[in-house]
Order: sequence, then structure tokens, then C-alpha cells
Amino acid sequence: MPRLNFCPRCANPLTTRSDGGRDRQACPDVECGFVHFGDFSIGCSAVVLREEAGQTKALLIQRGQEPFAGTWQVPGGYAEHDELLASAVEREVQEESAIEAKFQDVVGFRHMTVGPSTNVYIICRLRYEGGEPNYDGVETADARFFSMDELYSVKGVQNISRWGIRQALNTPVGAGLSIDLHGSDPSRWQLFGLTDIDPGDWR
Ligand SMILES: [Zn+2]
Repeated sequence: MPRLNFCPRCANPLTTRSDGGRDRQACPDVECGFVHFGDFSIGCSAVVLREEAGQTKALLIQRGQEPFAGTWQVPGGYAEHDELLASAVEREVQEESAIEAKFQDVVGFRHMTVGPSTNVYIICRLRYEGGEPNYDGVETADARFFSMDELYSVKGVQNISRWGIRQALNTPVGAGLSIDLHGSDPSRWQLFGLTDIDPGDWR
């Protein structure tokens, strides 16, 4: 991971400290307490399915910018540091395709330790609510609903997107990790589980 020279909190030059069995860069100011554990990010993406003339179709967007410009993928992006997953993924769908969709459940995720940061990429199933695909022509070069045949015949569809769409197609809505409202505080955290637990457990 990239080395830091200075503390990002208080600008002191960093030293090395053993923490959790590894040498880590750390701030010498104990009151500051900064330890550099690494760079982490949370990505999210959306499988949005809709029926058109008896055919199930999945929403894909074509990347307008590098990396991977020209490839097709399910819409998505990074969750901001103060943004909960369901809001982030709904926002990304709206921004990239102008489609309104509502979070339903998590159908899979990828954990990756290569790239600019250690990343968890969470693939969500969203219910189509309305709108037709539209895009800015810069970040998103195109957006449309693909039939299952097109998913395999159109060039440049990302494997991870096909994988996520298959997860959603092969499972009933709600079979994945859903938000347990009893264990969630809508402004601060969301708890995802395979089933709702008796609210008595949250006393
Ligand atoms: Zn510091």
C-alpha cells in the first residue's frame, strides 16, 4: 500500500509502530492516535430487471471514461464515507441512467486486495420504479436494458455484471441480504441479514 509521509490528521511526520502483529505507520502524537491501516473503499452496483414484451431485461450502462471505457456494466460506483449502501446504490443508478429504482437485497459481493484501494464491491438487487435510460454522454456513454441474449452477444459486457445479473435471476427477491429495519438506524447504519430477527432481540 502507498506510504504516507505525514499524519493526515495533524501533519506530524509519521513513525512506525507495531499494532496487531504488523509494523504500521503511525502518528507519534498519542493524543492524535492515527494509525495507517491502509486505504479501503466500498463500491456498490445495481441489478435492475424489468419485463419488456414478455422478456426479462437488465439495465446496463456503457462506461464513457477510463478505466475500461467502452465496456458495459451494471450501474454503480463508490459509496461516500457518510452515505449508507442503499442510498448510494439508488443514487448511482439515477446518476448514470436516469432510472428510478429501489434497493431490495444484496445478491453478492467481491472482496479485492489489488487496485488503488482494498475494495468491497457489493452487488444489489433493485426494483425498477420508473423512467427510461438517459445519460450524460461523458461519464456514461450509453445506457439501456439488455435481453439475456444480448448479455452474451454484445461485446464488452463485464463478467462481474453478468455474474450479478445471474445471481438475481436465479433467486427470489428477498433471498439475499435485506435491511433489517429493527436493527437499523436510518440516519447512521443499516444491518443486512438473510431474515428479520424478532425485534425483542434489540432491547
Ligand atoms: Zn497525527
